Amino acid sequence: MSVQKILFASSEAYPLIKTGGLGDVSGALPRALQQQGMDVRLILPFYTSVRSQAGKTRIVASFFIYDDGITIHETRLPGSRVKVWLVENAAAFDRPGNPYLDENGHSWSDNASRFTLFCRAIVRLSTNQAGIDWQPDIVHCNDWQTGLVPALLQYETDAPASVFTIHNMAYQGNFSAGTFTQLGLPADLWHYEKLEFYDQVSFIKGGLVFADRINTVSPSYATEIQSAEFAYGMEGVLQARSEDLSGILNGIDTSIWNPGTDDLIPSHYNRHQLDNKVANKTALQQRVGLTVDPELPLAGMISRMVEQKGFDELLDAMETLASLPMQILILGNGEKKFERALTDWSKQYPEKIQVVIGYDEALSHLIEAGSDLYLMPSRFEPCGLNQMYSLRYGTLPVVRNVGGLADTVIHASAVNIEQGLANGFVVEEAGSEALISTIQYALELYQQPRSWKALQLTAMAEDHSWKRSASEYRQLYQQAEQDHTAAAAVG
Ligand code: ADP
Repeated sequence: MSVQKILFASSEAYPLIKTGGLGDVSGALPRALQQQGMDVRLILPFYTSVRSQAGKTRIVASFFIYDDGITIHETRLPGSRVKVWLVENAAAFDRPGNPYLDENGHSWSDNASRFTLFCRAIVRLSTNQAGIDWQPDIVHCNDWQTGLVPALLQYETDAPASVFTIHNMAYQGNFSAGTFTQLGLPADLWHYEKLEFYDQVSFIKGGLVFADRINTVSPSYATEIQSAEFAYGMEGVLQARSEDLSGILNGIDTSIWNPGTDDLIPSHYNRHQLDNKVANKTALQQRVGLTVDPELPLAGMISRMVEQKGFDELLDAMETLASLPMQILILGNGEKKFERALTDWSKQYPEKIQVVIGYDEALSHLIEAGSDLYLMPSRFEPCGLNQMYSLRYGTLPVVRNVGGLADTVIHASAVNIEQGLANGFVVEEAGSEALISTIQYALELYQQPRSWKALQLTAMAEDHSWKRSASEYRQLYQQAEQDHTAAAAVG
């Protein structure tokens, strides 16, 4: 029997609410699953900011969880037929600003109870106890905000199978022991093989320990998070479940990220009209104040400015990079120390280095189209999207050999070029020296237009669509269901 009904649980989904990659996945994957014929419902908290985005909603259920009243509103994910259930509880979710952080950038002090309530509502709906008459085959949970769901489903009869997706191991939802008591969770969950994590309660452990299947957003990251360097203390838990842990690459929205139709770039191009790409480069140079020169290789970068993305290494390399025949353009915002240091470099070499502090969707498209190289020297990268946008735009990525970057970029070694496999440049070691020498190697290849074009054509021909990932998720659901049925038979 094939799995048909999926309850997709997330704390954000584009375009209703997005703070990062989780929002992109939760907005795109349910849609792709539905296109494969599955009946998918997306469940989200009804944040204040979602109200203005959601359009007309109708109430489909109301119930109490202990003393907390919950109302479920139904709407559609904008631009799709995917049904969305919005979990309303004013005290928990009706407040301005970011879903997780207050106006000072600190976690909301009641995050543990807010997301426990969300999880309990999900459990109610996934066990068909909300009066909607719909029971999923699978509840698909994402990140710590939904981590308690697989744990709480243990106590239900006729629970569906569960899948838990890790989007970033650095965020675990760990709270004090006192919080565990206040939440009123079943006492037996306080155990180091369950939710306890060094005298804290860890929401992500609910998913890691209890879900029928666990996955993350690239095969390499699935391996990496079983080691101390990448797991933030959870390596033991993940090693214990290595048989049930897999990696599925995220997709990209190929209707938005398509150089042949992109409304945000001045000159459309594709594999057959690659010569049109250079007009985007000169437009970009003009726009940001770099010397306009179609011949000079331009390396772009669009990123949150945080340590994860490799800014320490990049800053260490900057002196040397400024002396090479190339230009660098960085768009992003984040930690002030990085914003300041990068801006200082651009003041010193304005004709070669430009830094735009801020979030700018339109400029990000122009950078993808107008650059020759794309810099992504991340220390870790669960999947990463920009290297895949870059491949599609024929902008060759320079990446560290970690996570989703290692799974999508094939280094332009002589052998890989000869075999038609190469699509970018992979930095094999940490630190600025390896980064510099890889960029130098890329600049040498840039001087060989035929080889460069061959790399671009390979990159642009690849399929990174959600369709591919959705079929892999379909198989994962099948496995989860089989494991669940087998466990129920034993238990
Ligand atoms: P992460 O989720 O770790 O930030 P991803 O590569 O998975 O990294 O996704 C980041 C997304 O946010 C990409 O679509 C990227 O283009 C976009 N982005 C990041 N910073 C900016 C910015 N300053 N302006 C426009 N888009 C940005």
